[in-house]
Amino acid sequence: MNPLLAATATELAAKIAAREVSAVEVAQAHLDRIAEVDEKVHAFLHVDTDGALAQARRVDDGEISGPLAGVPLALKDVIVTKGVPTTAGSRILQGWVPPYDATIVERMRAAGIVVLGKTNMDEFAMGSSTEHSAFGPSRNPWDLTRTPGGSGGGSSAAVASYQAPIGIGTDTGGSIRQPAAVTGTVGAKPTYGGVSRYGLIAFSSSLDQAGPCARTVLDAALLHEVIGGHDPRDSTSIAAAVPPVVAAARQADVSGMRIGVVTQFKGDGYQPGVLARFDESVAILEKLGATVEEVSCPHFDYALPAYYLIAPSEASSNLARYDAMRYGLRVGDDGVASAEEVMAATRDAGFGAEVKRRIILGTYALSAGYYDAYYGQAQKVRTLISRDFASAFERVDVLVSPTTPTTAFTLGERVDDPMAMYLADLCTIPSNLYGGPALSLPCGLSDDGLPVGLQVMAPVQADERMYRVAAAVEAALGSDKLLEKAPPL
Ligand code: GLN
Repeated sequence: MNPLLAATATELAAKIAAREVSAVEVAQAHLDRIAEVDEKVHAFLHVDTDGALAQARRVDDGEISGPLAGVPLALKDVIVTKGVPTTAGSRILQGWVPPYDATIVERMRAAGIVVLGKTNMDEFAMGSSTEHSAFGPSRNPWDLTRTPGGSGGGSSAAVASYQAPIGIGTDTGGSIRQPAAVTGTVGAKPTYGGVSRYGLIAFSSSLDQAGPCARTVLDAALLHEVIGGHDPRDSTSIAAAVPPVVAAARQADVSGMRIGVVTQFKGDGYQPGVLARFDESVAILEKLGATVEEVSCPHFDYALPAYYLIAPSEASSNLARYDAMRYGLRVGDDGVASAEEVMAATRDAGFGAEVKRRIILGTYALSAGYYDAYYGQAQKVRTLISRDFASAFERVDVLVSPTTPTTAFTLGERVDDPMAMYLADLCTIPSNLYGGPALSLPCGLSDDGLPVGLQVMAPVQADERMYRVAAAVEAALGSDKLLEKAPPL
């Protein structure tokens, strides 16, 4: 394999800045890698060769510099890109070319990041395996018969298979962290409102958050600082600077920190190898000078059902905009059919089964007569979960748990069993409901030889804490080298 592919984003940027290698050479090496292996992995839905090389030339011409200038990136196809097709994994958006760039895309371009293309995902980010993509699933580079997780499995699979050193995902209930965990990569969900959602195709607006995917904690932090910070075009954006996550990742020191182990996340349904790696990580944190205590968050047990009322309710409203008039697909427009008939035919043909299930569920939960019993009740549970976090963070600086109960599951295994699919996000959903930041990093291999993720959760606007803890564990375990154990593609 070309050594440029195995380099971290930090190393690549340094080599490009020192003119040891050109940004065009780096981009071309990754485009060649995509051409070579993506037939097997199917991480990308669209590769923007011309756009990538043009941006790399701008870096080589000295027009742009910075800590990630010239570094290639895989972008989840739920983020809009001017002039580059954007589907959100759905047939209903097929053929739509956005007329504008998302704020984070503008920021990445200004930082000299080279967007290689758009990555595969579950339709409208609803799923945990990419099997709900209208364009076929992605595959896990560790074992091509298994899923790379979801919904952002494409970005994580691209990073894990050396098709890009960094990527962007979005996380509504775990879609950055769960794919990171099962592909042996790093994924971080920033504090809600910490990264602009302008140009992020909405699934559940009170939960959606974009964030970085990478092979090291430091690379994730560097990307976090590029995309983060206030955006007046997003009304939910926090009017504050990005927390100092890069400095924290470099600090990588946990001495004196108080770590809470969530007691709810273990037991039945957890793979023994996952729990073993988790316990070892906790022991390492203690050895590095942190104090560890068990913390009970009793309402976390109700996070999953609350999420599956709130997220579909918001989705049913957000997805009403796909009316056959404004974007992409239009079916049944024979000049005679009414607008309503065209809309119904288009939505029937354009949405997949999981998206329809969520729209029906959400519409039901919001309907008069059921609103209080379902949506209203779920919002109360959300408040109780936030209180669990608040009282936990009075005692400890961060909370830790396994990221997912099991390692990567096989393609087809859960696709007909929504409940089994939903359980992949058991440990990740509480942070979305609360709004705090959470990160997953690799912490070793389970008995089946597949990667295990450690989740670190921090208080709202204390994103730097999770990077500090994650970087310390990464250094102690050498987990930035874990991907070297994956079989070659
Ligand atoms: N897997 C969860 C769901 O299906 C979370 C998805 C996400 O974070 N976008 O809703």
